[in-house]
Order: sequence, then structure tokens, then C-alpha cells
Amino acid sequence: VRGYEGKRVAVLGLGRSGLAAAKALEAGGAEALCWDDGAEARERAEGQGLILHDLTRRDAFDDLAALIASPGIPHLYPETNRHIARAYEAGVPVDNDIGLFFRSFATPDWDEFETTPKVVAITGSNGKSTTSALIYHILSEAGRPTQLAGNIGRGVLDLDPAHDSEVVVLELSSYQTDLARALTPDIAVFTNLSPDHLDRHAGIGGYFAAKRRLFAEGGPDRAVIGVDEPEGLFLAGQLSEGPGDDRVIRVSVDRKLAGPGWHVFARKGFLSEYRKGRQVASIDLRPMKGLPGSHNHQNACAAFAACRALGLAPRQIEAALASFAGLPHRSQLVGEKGGVTFVNDSKATNVDSAAAALQAFERIRWIAGGLGKDGGIAALAPHLGHVAKAYLIGHSAREFALQLGDTPHEICETMERAVASAASEAEPGETVLLAPAAASFDQYADFEARGDDFTRLVRALTA
Ligand code: ADP
Repeated sequence: VRGYEGKRVAVLGLGRSGLAAAKALEAGGAEALCWDDGAEARERAEGQGLILHDLTRRDAFDDLAALIASPGIPHLYPETNRHIARAYEAGVPVDNDIGLFFRSFATPDWDEFETTPKVVAITGSNGKSTTSALIYHILSEAGRPTQLAGNIGRGVLDLDPAHDSEVVVLELSSYQTDLARALTPDIAVFTNLSPDHLDRHAGIGGYFAAKRRLFAEGGPDRAVIGVDEPEGLFLAGQLSEGPGDDRVIRVSVDRKLAGPGWHVFARKGFLSEYRKGRQVASIDLRPMKGLPGSHNHQNACAAFAACRALGLAPRQIEAALASFAGLPHRSQLVGEKGGVTFVNDSKATNVDSAAAALQAFERIRWIAGGLGKDGGIAALAPHLGHVAKAYLIGHSAREFALQLGDTPHEICETMERAVASAASEAEPGETVLLAPAAASFDQYADFEARGDDFTRLVRALTA
């Protein structure tokens, strides 16, 4: 990366992105000084020939040009990491790998990439990974060389500069956008906003602010914005320079958008694109088997809009939407037996993503629970209409049971018992759905391990 030649830059947190940042800094002629509070991570870095720099020392922050922090490290709330606090005190700029990427990338003579790809960045509370993977899939199917990185796939500094990409698709979480000192994508996508990760960002305001940074002054040429929540509507309004302005593409799955702007919305299984008051495309979303539910129509609309902004024709996008298989652990069909389907939505770790899944299927045997978030599932009360019965697991099973009211439920504790019970009671036409509305850490290493366990149990039953 550029901008730090001959300078001393500290790298804090030596996971994948930290190691990649250190190597990229060195390749750009900087002195990368690495630190991690974990001895194992330090040893790994040393083993790769990197220089360690003890950030606990009194003079550690003298003469540093920047501190590059890993996304997982808290820098504001809850308690700011003490190394980051010291950098703030010493006036050392704090940045991350995303900021490094954009700083280098914005340099016109940056010659590491053979061509200068367009950068599409996707943020929002839910649907980031699905939308990012979908944009990548559509572009690849259309024969446009594309790379996918960020929160999904590889780190931004692990992108292959020799790949003659036309487009780089970046999934960015609020943990990445909040610190990055440069954020200049060509096209920025905002899917939606729901209360999640509020502890880190000082409430909803800070969380929205972190996501909004992608759309700051002098920001993207084009912004694709989901306007079904007030925050998205507000953001679209702020960016717009007048009624006919086509810098903003508004996306909705809630209503038909009207007016002279550029709109993409889905209604009754059809996607429509309007520009200057005229319909310019209409696509049947029903063949899109890999992406069930209206929340996925939102993702499809956002991906469609981003690809239109990149100059693809509606027909090219339509074919690719139908052939997208979906991502594992996101409304993923993992089995079928006797007319009962089994869906793994282990990634539904908050109430909004769980609500989306509960609306996507007709009659549901719902497996939920784990480490519930603040408020449990109280907010799901209006979304229980399709639930025939809930099968509760994990730490929050009892709390969830109390919040279910009249909805039939059973405390199962383990995934094994929940799957067995749900499968034996399910009737033809019903869906056994894992959509926990909770984190997984009480019983599993992560949401992937939880989804894999569910899938393994289902396969054993349906084989
Ligand atoms: P992210 O990367 O933002 O976490 P994912 O695509 O991985 O998003 O999906 C996360 C969870 O949210 C999954 O349970 C998925 O089914 C659900 N989901 C996906 N897209 C949306 C959406 N547009 N609105 C609400 N929930 C969604």
C-alpha cells in the first residue's frame, strides 16, 4: 500500500487482516511494527518474518505515522482497547485495512492493479453477504472479471492485483466502516438497518453513522439505498440533488416507488425498474429458487440496481438471479422428506433476520434459541403467524418460551432433540426452519458450526 514509505506504522491485532496489512505496508516501503496481546498470534507473525513492537511500552507510540487496528477490536464502546486509547491520546491516526486499501486505491498512479477496477461496497444490517455474493455472481455470469473481498471471502489486502478485475465487490460491516480513514467506492450499497451491535457504536445513532460513512461528502458516484426504513429514506434524501437526480437508486420491497428518480422495487414476485417515471425493466423473481422470501427480493433488487449502475442489461441480470444457489446458512434448503422441507438460516442471529425468515415460509416448525440478544424475541410477536410450533434450544430457551405467549412450544435444550422433535411432528407442506434469533456461542464455536450441526442431523434423517 501507498502513503507510508519510510514511515513507522503499528499494526494491532495479528489475525488474517492484520498479517495482510503488515505485509502490504512492508511491500509499500513502510516499517510495519506488529503487536497482538496474544502470545500465539505474536509467534505466528514472527514466524512469518514480521517485526514485533511491544505496544505496552511507554515510548511505543513515539514517532508512529499510524496505528492499523483489526476490525474486531473495540475502539469506542464497550471499553476502548487500551492501545487504541493511547494512540488517540498521542494523536497517532488510527486506521484499518479498508482505509489502507482505499488510500492506495485512490492514488491515480497506483500500479499494483493492472487495470483500475470499479469498487462496489455493500453495507447494512442484514443481507450484506447475500447481496455481495449475488453481485459477484451476476458479474461473473456476465463475463465481467470480478473479485469479492471484505467481510466475506478474503481480506481487501489479499486481493490479487494481477487479476485483471473490472470490478471489486467489497462487503463492509460497521466494524470496518467506522474506523477506515478513506472510504471511496464508486458504487455504494445500503441494504437496510436494524438494531444490532449497538454496544460497540454507542446506540443506533453511532451504528447508523458508521454505515453512513460510505456515503459521505465526495462519496460514491452511485448510491443504491434500501428505503424501507426511515434511516435509508433519510440517507437517500440527503444524497439526492434534485427530483430527477440519478445518483441515488432507491430500492424497496414494501411499495411501488414513484417520481422521476431511479427506482428498483419488488412487488408480488416481480422486480420493476423505473427511470424518470418510465418503466425500463420488469423481471419475474419466481425462478429465483436459491433466494426465498421477501428479504431476498430486497437483496435481489439491490444487486440488480448495482449491476445496472455498472452497465449490465436487465436480461443478463435476470438469468443470473435464477442460477444463484444462495449462501450456506442463509435460508439454505438442506433437506426434504415426505413433503417437509428443512431450511438452515443459522445466520439469523438477530430478530430482524429471524423475522425475515419467519415471513418467507408458510407453516413453520421453528428451531430458535442460543445466546439471545437484549430484549430476547419480544419484537418477534407480530411475526409468529406462520409458526406451528417453536422448538427452543440453548441458554435463552426459557426466556424465549416466556415471550412466545400462545404459540405452542417445547424446551428441547439441544439441536439434536429439537431436530428430532420438529421432524417427527412436521406435516407435509411444512418447513422445519432453524432461525435462532440468537448468537451461537453458548453451544457452538460460531453460527457456521451451528448450521453444520443442524444440516448433519437433517441429512441423517432424510438420507
Ligand atoms: P449479513 O452479511 O449482513 O449478515 P447475510 O446475507 O449473511 O447478511 O444474511 C444474514 C441473515 O439475515 C440471514 O439469516 C439471512 O437469511 C437474513 N437476511 C438476508 N438478507 C436480508 C434482508 N435483506 N433483510 C433481512 N434479513 C435478511
